[in-house]
Amino acid sequence: MDLQQLQELVNIESDRLMLQYNETPDPKLVILARTVKLSEESGELADQILGYCGLQRKDKMYKYSMDKLSKELADVIITTFVLAKACNVDIIKAIDDKMQIVSQRKLNGEVNPIV
Ligand SMILES: [Mg+2]
Repeated sequence: MDLQQLQELVNIESDRLMLQYNETPDPKLVILARTVKLSEESGELADQILGYCGLQRKDKMYKYSMDKLSKELADVIITTFVLAKACNVDIIKAIDDKMQIVSQRKLNGEVNPIV
């Protein structure tokens, strides 16, 4: 699946989810809910990263696996796409624009062009 396909899937699923409400939810509440969800997914990813690095408490290490780490990385990306839709941000254009900035930084010889 490429980014365009992911965006199309997110658009379809987000619209389908909205049809389940009797009333259209306040867009700001939708954005807030999506932001909280992204934070939740980031926390789940952080939990897996702690396991990956062996920094998790022993009694929590059973939760870590490479499969779960992979899935949490995907959750963060998918949830970011969902939040971008709620904010009416063209996330693919945003990524393209950002990569142009990164490319320019590389041309300028910056040490850490991605962040
Ligand atoms: Mg998750």
